[in-house]
Amino acid sequence: MSAVVTDLSQAVEDAAAHLYVWALKDIPQDLRDALAAARDRETSTTGKRVLETITRNVEIADDERNLVCQDTGIAVYYCRVGEGFPLHPARIYDALRAGTERATVEHPLRSNTVHTLTRENTGQNVGFRVPIVHWDFVPDWDGLDVKCVPKGSGSENMSFLKMCVPADGVRGIKQFVLESIVGAGGKPCPPGIVGVGIGGSADYAMHLAKEAIARPVGTRNPDPEVAQLEDELYELLNETGVGPMGLGGDVTVLSCHIEHADTHMTLNPVAVNYQCWAARRASAHISSSGDIEYERDA
Ligand code: SF4
Repeated sequence: MSAVVTDLSQAVEDAAAHLYVWALKDIPQDLRDALAAARDRETSTTGKRVLETITRNVEIADDERNLVCQDTGIAVYYCRVGEGFPLHPARIYDALRAGTERATVEHPLRSNTVHTLTRENTGQNVGFRVPIVHWDFVPDWDGLDVKCVPKGSGSENMSFLKMCVPADGVRGIKQFVLESIVGAGGKPCPPGIVGVGIGGSADYAMHLAKEAIARPVGTRNPDPEVAQLEDELYELLNETGVGPMGLGGDVTVLSCHIEHADTHMTLNPVAVNYQCWAARRASAHISSSGDIEYERDA
């Protein structure tokens, strides 16, 4: 392995080790603003108290440089790899894995990863196919962007997929999203971000739903028709009365984000992925020479 590749591996490992802990401790500003706005507009006494407690929880985590929630989640990374980035994705994966492991040992963090059948703990938040890494490849670029989105189980357990038929149309999509969130109640620690993936195939719709929850709170899809559906669902979801922690109130969700893909003429897949109020994410840009720039709010 050449020196530059070794240095790049080290840079990616360092970035992953930092991002995993940073994301767990210091939630993005857009999320802080959305939680404060939710607290201010909530009219139910119980709901307001829940949102005040969440705000206080975040302040204490800041003051004590501690985690915003005990569930350190499953480590998920989104990578945008430039075609000229001089480290192969196989080596990037190894470095992300090493960084996840290092963060878990050094902090230390709770280790959540287990074998899916035996339930035996597999080590330091790594295991077979864990961490989970999603890849995008970017032409005419030599950088690497890494976003760490640790996902707690309470909200991940509230993931739903329905293969609607085309005749169900947009109405069917709305109905499924509403049924999913009302059915989830307080389990995914609301209010959070509802990610919706529509189109593609069954697996891709769920991938898109997950990608949607990793966007900054309140951002809108660039396609105006999709953005309109995001607004409509946001309004409808907040009319359900589920409220903070499912205890009733005006604020059930902070935002609804949709990602979409074209699909087969006889398909209409809809996936829902809930992101709890602790919508943790942190990003880094790594240059081809190994310089790291961190960005909390990307
Ligand atoms: S769902 Fe989110 S806020 Fe609730 S316990 Fe899990 S990580 Fe924490």
